[in-house]
Amino acid sequence: MRQEMGRRDLMRSLGIGALALTTGGLTAELGCAAPPTGGGAYELPPLPYGYDALAPAIDERILRIHHQKHHAGYVRGLNATLAALAKAREAGDMAAVQALSRKLAFHGSGHVLHTLYWNSMKPGEPTKPAGALAAALDRDFGSPVKFLAHFAAASKAVAGSGWGILVHEPVGNRLLVLQVENHENLTIWGTTPLLVCDVWEHAYYLQYANKRGDYVDAFCQIIDWPAVARRYAAATKA
Ligand code: MN
Repeated sequence: MRQEMGRRDLMRSLGIGALALTTGGLTAELGCAAPPTGGGAYELPPLPYGYDALAPAIDERILRIHHQKHHAGYVRGLNATLAALAKAREAGDMAAVQALSRKLAFHGSGHVLHTLYWNSMKPGEPTKPAGALAAALDRDFGSPVKFLAHFAAASKAVAGSGWGILVHEPVGNRLLVLQVENHENLTIWGTTPLLVCDVWEHAYYLQYANKRGDYVDAFCQIIDWPAVARRYAAATKA
């Protein structure tokens, strides 16, 4: 049951549930062989490309450690937290609920954001925003170029560890840039993340050392804009 809820909620949060169920292609993008059927724990999805595929923007060694150690750690932390909460409920002892709730938000957000991060980048020829997504970037930021300047600046300026995130906010039907601290702080409820840039030091330090700005600029060159457009289309589907 946990896996069913987890995978469904994850896909919904990525804005791709409906498309995934009809095409199967986007579930594959998340490493799911088929729509979730339930049971078991959260799993680390495979990268949608090889560990060396994003070089020279991001080195093989960084991607391997980031995926196999850091992302895997959030998946383990999420499963361990859910198990601890289940145990606490069964024992009727909720003394640890405050600490476990913090862990749930941290590891759960870490898992969702890393899954989306791998699917925010693309090897090969650079892509550009097009269609309805480009029109929305015009409307809400002035132009795709102005959006990217805003997104890059927000990502570079995160205090400590965090993320730059493009979201769709459904109440006003508007795109926003969020500057998230850790994985779970400074968000707006109900928004759908469309594009995420990890600016924790583990995402770039082995290659860029203290030059976070250079890493963010390199990230902006390998954005998978067609994937962002698919998530935008799913998030704004009537
Ligand atoms: Mn990370």
